[in-house]
Amino acid sequence: MPSVASPALANHQDAQLRQRAARVVPGGMTGHLNAAALPAGYPQFFERGQGCRVWDVDGNAYIDFMCSWGPNLLGHHHPEVDAAAARQQALGDCLNGPTPRFVELAERFVARSAHADWVLFQKNGTDATTVGVMVARAATGKRKVLVATKAYHGADPWCTPVPNGITAEDRAHLIYYTYNDVASLEAAAAAAGDDLAAIVCSAFKHDIGVDQELPRPEFARRARALCDKAGAALILDEVRAGYRMHAGGSWETVGVRPDLSAWSKSIANGYALAAVTGVDALRDAATRIYTTGSFWSGGVAMAAGLATLEVAESTDVVAHVHRMGQRFRDGIAAQATSHGVGVRQTGPAALPLILFDNDPGVDRGAVFAAEALRRGVYLHPRHNMFLSLAHTEQDIDLALQATDAAFALVAQRFGSH
Ligand code: PMP
Repeated sequence: MPSVASPALANHQDAQLRQRAARVVPGGMTGHLNAAALPAGYPQFFERGQGCRVWDVDGNAYIDFMCSWGPNLLGHHHPEVDAAAARQQALGDCLNGPTPRFVELAERFVARSAHADWVLFQKNGTDATTVGVMVARAATGKRKVLVATKAYHGADPWCTPVPNGITAEDRAHLIYYTYNDVASLEAAAAAAGDDLAAIVCSAFKHDIGVDQELPRPEFARRARALCDKAGAALILDEVRAGYRMHAGGSWETVGVRPDLSAWSKSIANGYALAAVTGVDALRDAATRIYTTGSFWSGGVAMAAGLATLEVAESTDVVAHVHRMGQRFRDGIAAQATSHGVGVRQTGPAALPLILFDNDPGVDRGAVFAAEALRRGVYLHPRHNMFLSLAHTEQDIDLALQATDAAFALVAQRFGSH
């Protein structure tokens, strides 16, 4: 067997920055970007990005399969998006009120979203999911909200996955169901009785560390019917899947339209923007709630959002990311077979997840990802990844050279199957 180990990456600057951060930032880094959750060797700090490549602070370059955990839909530094943002920056960003981009983007956004009659803008995905729940409660005057066990909807007290610093009362009106399980959804709705405000569903099941699941049509239809019966709102969390699964909204794939959708991540290609879209019946409630933020109407992100929409529509980015994701998935499947290593690849090809069989502690996954990283490919061992418009067939094929070596190392360390 050829030698597959390659030298460790330079990490001097990264190590220094981590030490400095640890002194002035609690834990050095918070949340999903904390590299402590990744295998040894992963950098914490990055210097720059271009297209589908990122460079860490020590100058190591990677083909990027995380796309900033979703936001970079068109690739880092997309020229049209950056030019639109720069034009707006020269005029003004944070002013005494929104710029005309606010209205222009709202019109485009509503026109693109199949279910929507209106939109409210925010900054982060958590803002959007939280505003969605507020609109539903304002409209219905009811309290109970159904959410899937382990589904991620953000980091506010009602939804953060780590319950430190919150109270039981913050979640007093949440009732849990199992994604794609009609019986459990019905039981949760029954438990809500006549107090049901909303059912929150992820666009697909993308919980960390477990196989992904596309929405089952019968599950989506039942969620719709339960909301209709109770006069509750069906809220679709598009924050992760939006613009990659279907242009008009992810549940167009199953023929079910939500009342409210929460968007962020990819909608302005890395500029900070979130949105809630809704139907006319909820317009009055959306008018009555009070939500705002100093930066929510900033013109630069909205200009970036407009340019992102234009590029997304003129290039059919959904088809592209799917095609690149499928090429990657096919290559991975062939390599896994040839190395005699069992893997599961689930969910939409544009948001790939690779999990190894017999790997409850993600030991195989960690060796695989760390070896790919050393060979210049930035994967995630247990979270879904993201493709962008900037990924070409050549990039995918280059990445597959690295994963082939990574599979060889997994087979060597753990044996076949
Ligand atoms: N919902 C989903 C499905 C997400 O994936 C995320 C972010 N990973 C959020 C909500 C929260 O978004 P943000 O981190 O921008 O607040």
